[in-house]
Amino acid sequence: MICEMCGKEVPLTKAVIVEGTRLNVCPNCSKFGEDYRANQSGTPISSSVIEQRLERREKRMQTKDIYAGTATVELVDDFGGIIKEAREAKGMDLEAFAASILEKKGTISKIESNSLIPDDKLIKKIEKALGIKLTETVQSGVTVGGGNNSNRMTLGNFIKKE
Ligand SMILES: [Zn+2]
Repeated sequence: MICEMCGKEVPLTKAVIVEGTRLNVCPNCSKFGEDYRANQSGTPISSSVIEQRLERREKRMQTKDIYAGTATVELVDDFGGIIKEAREAKGMDLEAFAASILEKKGTISKIESNSLIPDDKLIKKIEKALGIKLTETVQSGVTVGGGNNSNRMTLGNFIKKE
């Protein structure tokens, strides 16, 4: 076989890329070009696979962002009433309940009258202690779970009584 670069007769030539052209060259000349096989089956394919993975990951992250942006978990409007009701159903007075979750009686009293908003940690603690749910998922400004409906009903009942 003849080297296409130096013209030397050699037992085996190697295919390399020299300045964008494929040449069959002797082992001595092959160091001047890029390995043809590695270039064809290696670099282009693996880089496109990486690109596809990045694209997919980007899409996933965008989807996550959309959900994070439109749905938030918020405390229900009448959290105090729900706590009080659940506490009384368990036959606990303020003091006993406060002691059971290692909080001050005054703190629980304020929460039950909706004048103190408990932090996330305390919400979780009360929910666990009483087996209730004090949060609702709010999506795009629309309340899911009917918190607003129950408020309207309470107001309606109040007007009827008047
Ligand atoms: Zn050569």
